[in-house]
Parts: sequence; C-alpha cells; structure tokens
Amino acid sequence: MSKQSRRREALVYHAKPTPGKIQVVPTKKYATQRDLSLAYSPGVAEPCLEIEKDKNNVYKYTAKGNLVAVISNGTAVLGLGNIGPEASKPVMEGKGLLFKIFADIDVFDIEVGTENVEEFIQTVKMIAPTFGGINLEDIKAPEAFEIERRLKEELDIPVMHDDQHGTAIISAAALLNALELADKKIEEVQIVISGAGAAAISCSRLYQACGATRKNMVMLDSKGVIRDDRDNLTAEKAEFATHRKIDTLDEAMKNADVFIGLSMADIVNPDMLLSMADDPIVFAMANPNPEIPYELAVATRKDIIMATGRSDTPNQVNNVLGFPFIFRGALDVRATKINEEMKMAAVFALANLAKEAVPEQVNIAYGETRLTFGRDYIIPKPFDPRLIVEVPPAVAKAAMESGVAKEPIEDWEKYRNELME
Ligand code: NAP
Ligand code: MG
Repeated sequence: MSKQSRRREALVYHAKPTPGKIQVVPTKKYATQRDLSLAYSPGVAEPCLEIEKDKNNVYKYTAKGNLVAVISNGTAVLGLGNIGPEASKPVMEGKGLLFKIFADIDVFDIEVGTENVEEFIQTVKMIAPTFGGINLEDIKAPEAFEIERRLKEELDIPVMHDDQHGTAIISAAALLNALELADKKIEEVQIVISGAGAAAISCSRLYQACGATRKNMVMLDSKGVIRDDRDNLTAEKAEFATHRKIDTLDEAMKNADVFIGLSMADIVNPDMLLSMADDPIVFAMANPNPEIPYELAVATRKDIIMATGRSDTPNQVNNVLGFPFIFRGALDVRATKINEEMKMAAVFALANLAKEAVPEQVNIAYGETRLTFGRDYIIPKPFDPRLIVEVPPAVAKAAMESGVAKEPIEDWEKYRNELME
C-alpha cells in the first residue's frame, strides 16, 4: 500500500461513520419510566448515600473499579513529539480501544492542556476519584518521571506511565528469553543502551531488577556516551553514567552482548553489529524506524537475536502485551499500586508463556505455520488468547503477596474462568 493511500485509509477510519474510536454505552436497562427512576432521580440517591457512608461502596455501585483514565498532555506522542493535547487524542482513544478489546477495561481518555508539572499533577489528583486506575501516556521526560513518582505516592489507586514501564516489562521478558537462547547470564552480559529518555531509563532499571549489573551497562543520549565525568546530567542519566573513558556508540558496541535501542532510526551500522560478541541480542525499538533495519541486521549477523517495535518483523516489543493485562490484575484485587513485584510477575508470566506450545488460532491469526520458542519467537503475540488468562492472575497474586491488594482473590479457578469469558 502506498503512503498516500495508507494516509487516506487512516483518516477515513477515524472520521467515518462516527468521528473517533470509542463511545459510552449504558450497562443497565433504560426502556421504561421505572428504569429511569432507578438510573437517575430518585433511585440514584440510594447508592449515593451508601457511598457517602463508606467510600469503598463506590466500587460496588459505580463503574469506578473497571474504569481507567488514559491521561496525556501530548508532549511526547508516539514518535511525533510535542504535538499538544488535542493532537494526542487519537492515540489516547486508541489506547482506550486496546484496553477494551484485550482486557474489557473501560477508559476515559483525558487530554490535559498544560505542560506545567505541578498543574498536571493537581489535575490528575483532582479527577482521580472517578477512576480505578491511571495510565499516564506520552508525557515527555524528564517531567514524566516526577509526575509518575508524585502521583504514585499521593494516590491510592494504581498509577502507571506506560511508555516507561510497559516497554520495560515486555522487553525484559524478551531479554530473559533471548539470553536463555544465547546461553548467557544476565549478571554477566555487557549491555549498551542507546537513548536516555522515559523508555530507556525505565528499561535499564527493570533489567537491573532482573539481575543486570550497572557496571556492565553503557548508556548513550544524543550527545554520546553518558560518562560520569560529564557536566549537568539529570538525576536519571547520572544513575547510569559509566566510568569507562569512551564517547561513541562505535566504541560502546565492541564486544557488547546486548544492544537496547530506544532512541533514533538508523544510528547502528553493520560494522557495529560485526564488532559485537557472539549471538548478539539487538532490540532496536525506535519507532517507526528502528536503530538498524531488521533485514540489514539479520543479513549482517546470522547469529543475531533481534527484536523491534514493528509489527512487520518477528519479536515485536508491543506494549499491548502488557498494559491491558497488568491493569486487569491490579483492578481485580483493587491494588493500591502497581509495584515492582507486580511488574516482575508480568515479566515472568510473559517470558514463560513464550516457551509454551502455541495454540493453532495464534498461528492462523499471524499467518504462521508453526510458531515455536526460538530466535524468531521470544515473546508472545498480542492476539494470543492465553495472555488474559496468564498475566492478570500473576499480577494479582503479586499484588496480594506484596500487601497492596485490598480485595484479595480467593477462588483462582473461578477468577480464571471469569477472565476467559
Ligand atoms: P524520549 O523520552 O524522547 O527519549 C529519547 C532519547 O533518545 C533521549 O534520551 C535522546 O537524547 C536520545 N537520543 C536522541 N538521538 C540519539 C542518538 N543519536 N543516539 C543516542 N540517543 C539519542 O523518548 P522515549 O519515549 O524514551 O522513546 C524513545 C524511542 O523509543 C522512540 O523512538 C519511541 O518510539 C521508541 N519506543 C519504542 C517502544 C516499543 O517499541 N515498544 C516503546 C517506547 C518507546 P537526549 O536525552 O540527549 O535528548
Ligand atoms: Mg505511549
């Protein structure tokens, strides 16, 4: 399809027959006068009073417990940059659609007209009573770090900045599996991270939680290697500054085992790949175009284990593998947070699922003959029906074990059956 016709198709998809991608649908009967007197005045006063007596009743009588806010100020939208709140709305509606189809979670997309950190935080705090969870989206770094940190601290519902943690969780699952295939230990591998933005920092932190060693990591930003003798580093960059006296990506790639790209298209060349260690793991995740094109990378190294952010190559690191299922698990035990334990549980659930035999319907959905765990299949595919049964229970269990679940699940069999419906 030409670029021009894809553009037209996307615009028509969004405009017709109804502008946008999502709408509100009643869940109760509304055919008779009696129904309406229950739905609204005077009947509606009864649940109001019950909730006034005990705020927890809001989960019993309203949609709060299954409602997530996807909130952005439009400052770091996809690869499009700071395009403003209105222009970010199609993305936020799209996220709402994905929450709904993959995990039956309802979303209000909220676009906030401020770039001021404090104003943004106050806005989210003030509307939080409406929601069971908050998905922060496409907010630029470093502001995003502070916004998420504060809201997690100050709210008692799950808050997650998906651009940071979604990517971290999916790519960590992929990394664990790639390391297994390469027969390397996470504690020992040399890791190069290109990019020091929201995604790169959060990925690096989670890889460390998985066992990666800080001194084996080299991070680069637009100015080159982040060295500990560089001036004016942000706190997040300083956290990953290296003591090695190197400056360029060329130098960093020599003998590296793993390359993590969350930066810019086409900054890695074949010579760099050739200088990496055996069985190099290359996750080139810049969107829409990776740090090195997939075809060029696999033509350069036969022993490569490659992932990208693109759906047209194997091993797509796609956030949709994470956020619907992580929030599902968190909401279902009424977790007060999405904590490290819950994120790690999602990592292992995803990593393990990729090693199980793939159901035929997944092969069919992706036009594959036989997906099996290996270099071209290190993470599950989004349309895998097992995700909804495997990931939320793992997350819910981790919430319970780490003491943040207000409504623990007792009957797991029943819960799994409900998830399958
Ligand atoms: P971000 O916060 O804007 O960060 C971009 C980072 O890249 C910045 O640290 C920037 O350096 C650095 N950078 C720019 N040019 C560079 C270069 N030539 N070499 C090394 N680093 C360079 O953006 P983000 O949200 O982290 O996303 C970064 C990229 O990853 C985007 O392409 C995004 O689409 C992609 N991504 C993919 C996935 C996925 O596949 N699932 C998920 C998330 C993000 P400075 O700090 O010096 O400006
Ligand atoms: Mg995003």
